[in-house]
Amino acid sequence: MAFPATRPRRLRMSEIVRKMVRETRLSPDQFIYPMFVCPGEGIKKEISSMPGNYHWSVDTLVEEVRSVKSLGISGIMLFGIPERKDDRATSAYDDHGVVQEAVRALKREVPGILVITDVCLCEYTANGHCGLVKGEEILNDESLELLALSALSHAKAGADLVAPSDMMDGRVGAIRTLLDKNGFQNVPILSYAVKYASGYYGPFREAADSAPAFGDRRSHQMDPANAREALREVDLDIEEGADILMVKPAGPYLDIIRMLRDRYTHPLAAYQVSGEYSALVAAGQLGWLDLERTMLESLTGIRRAGADIILTYFAKDAARLLS
Ligand SMILES: [Zn+2]
Repeated sequence: MAFPATRPRRLRMSEIVRKMVRETRLSPDQFIYPMFVCPGEGIKKEISSMPGNYHWSVDTLVEEVRSVKSLGISGIMLFGIPERKDDRATSAYDDHGVVQEAVRALKREVPGILVITDVCLCEYTANGHCGLVKGEEILNDESLELLALSALSHAKAGADLVAPSDMMDGRVGAIRTLLDKNGFQNVPILSYAVKYASGYYGPFREAADSAPAFGDRRSHQMDPANAREALREVDLDIEEGADILMVKPAGPYLDIIRMLRDRYTHPLAAYQVSGEYSALVAAGQLGWLDLERTMLESLTGIRRAGADIILTYFAKDAARLLS
């Protein structure tokens, strides 16, 4: 039946009908809010390239997470800004490191919200690389042990999930093995299975103070031009025991999200990264875009592509708009 019998506009005439036939829904319980914790007390320092995001000390973080929880957001992803950095990233797996202390405080003070920890070495190495370095090479196998130790120390502190983001080969398996050996067989691994070497991470480097002193991350993160390679990465992570798969960044890689959604049954997360966030915020500040509208549109697009879970710096703002 063609026009005039068929008129798609009939179902667009009122908000109540549009709402009834809506295919994709956004809800705060699909959001994870990334947060940055630093040493000290009483600290809430804005990250200039990510307006509305802060470095928190453990005490102020606890208060902020209470408000995150009250918005119905499922969890937070914690990144650490350590007191000291060194060649072996020792603060990453120090049981009294800043992330470990934050996890302990959050599990004690704010029950009922998931505390997920980022597992990587780049915030903790003096040279800002994601693994141990020899000359100009980032060593793979030697880094696995330290990544696994980091994940174990997070689990011991009470982390609900651990999220390896380094893209070293074999890290999911190394983490799974060490967690299981220590009685943490029920702590899930949210794997950054498909993480691209992206220019959209720019603002995060300031936030996490993790810009590499030399070279870049192209020897471990994926080439933005590749899609088939994502399937290989995901197959390996599943084999090694990943529970949830993640694609990072989100917006420029919606085809990858859709491809993984169609081929795998695992829950799928997507990380809307700092550059995606800051670009919209900046355009909003200039009056070039309606920020509230484009924020929700960008998140809807990520869900429509097939992500079950979205890590986003918009989590709080979007949750408020949806309530
Ligand atoms: Zn890293």
